[in-house]
Amino acid sequence: MERVLTNLRLVTLSSETSANNNGYQIIEDGMVGITNGKIMFVGSASDSPLACHNDLHGHPDVIDCGNALVTPGLIDCHTHLIFAGNRANEFEQRLNGMPYEEIAKRGGGIVSTVQATREATEDELYQLAIKRLDGLKRDGVTTIEIKSGYGLTLDDELKMLRVARRIGDMSDIKVSTTLLAAHAVPPEYKNRADDYIDYVCQHIIPAAVEQGLADYVDVFCEGIGFSTQQCQRVFETAKDYGLGIKGHTEQLSNLGGSALAARMGATSVDHIEHLDHDGVAALAANDTVATLLPGAYYFLRETQRPPIEHLRKLQVPMAISTDFNPGTSPIASLRTMMNMACTFFRLTPEECLRGVTCNAAQALGLEASRGKISVGMEADLALWDIDTPAELSYRLGVPDLIARIVDGEIFDAK
Ligand code: FE
Repeated sequence: MERVLTNLRLVTLSSETSANNNGYQIIEDGMVGITNGKIMFVGSASDSPLACHNDLHGHPDVIDCGNALVTPGLIDCHTHLIFAGNRANEFEQRLNGMPYEEIAKRGGGIVSTVQATREATEDELYQLAIKRLDGLKRDGVTTIEIKSGYGLTLDDELKMLRVARRIGDMSDIKVSTTLLAAHAVPPEYKNRADDYIDYVCQHIIPAAVEQGLADYVDVFCEGIGFSTQQCQRVFETAKDYGLGIKGHTEQLSNLGGSALAARMGATSVDHIEHLDHDGVAALAANDTVATLLPGAYYFLRETQRPPIEHLRKLQVPMAISTDFNPGTSPIASLRTMMNMACTFFRLTPEECLRGVTCNAAQALGLEASRGKISVGMEADLALWDIDTPAELSYRLGVPDLIARIVDGEIFDAK
């Protein structure tokens, strides 16, 4: 082994089932052995081959972690991290009494973000995004999903995805990319949504695939977005090109987009405040993750909560994510989302931890390699100066993170 971490309390989450409450699976006085960025040994120090035989072949780097609590590195599985501009002015205008229609008439709303993003260079978008990313890293995030969706032209969507891939080239963060060209009807296609979907399917998806820029394709299935028929066309095209699919579904109304996405093989459906029992059954039948986005629920002051009890009953895995975006969730803190999932949705702290680790990994199709601490997994970990895992959901604003470990490399939080 190249590196051995000792004196740990390991929150392994290593149970094989995908339900939301199987215990934290904690190992006290734990030890982790790492080779080539992968976990080669997990156990208590007394079980370790090193402890038994004092066998330090290859002189591994042994690090005493001072009884730190260790979780899998956190995974933020739904973000819109890349965009230019800022909607704080709209936030202020609304709180000063200006109606949304007036703000939209003055060029506000998503159109303002699209315009600013189109005008920005890749370098500008990159610099803006890595500052936001720092907030997530402070919460122990080691993997992040990043969506396009503010370009809405072939060139601008690919520009956003190139920036996302460039962020993934950093050694201390892993990025999954998602093409969200079907985010909104761009101004050039006003009242011609079907024509825009043709453009997405015939030009943008093929180009993103050809250039290796997208892992997933996403849609906004909603009255103010795209119909289930339009979303189905996008999903069919994505699948023809070998891409995974996921959806923004049942956020504001119940159109059946979640069930459609699940039946077509989506790894996750996201938001789902208005999901009905048939929709939950479709997720359960297709092993689709329900991704909860409490930041948007909070920021929009929603009152309709996702069907948590029914998701639990049918053992649908729940993920939690920031949905970081300028319009409805400008909050770059995954731990804040864990806290909100507890306070608003009544999730348990254990469900929240699974929601930002193993279940978030499943939402990205990465459950075989990330999200738990077990042999064979990638060595992505977060070391915390806390006593119990519940503190991750309980407390906000205290810098509890000691370090993140990505592929076995240590990145100190300070
Ligand atoms: Fe979103």
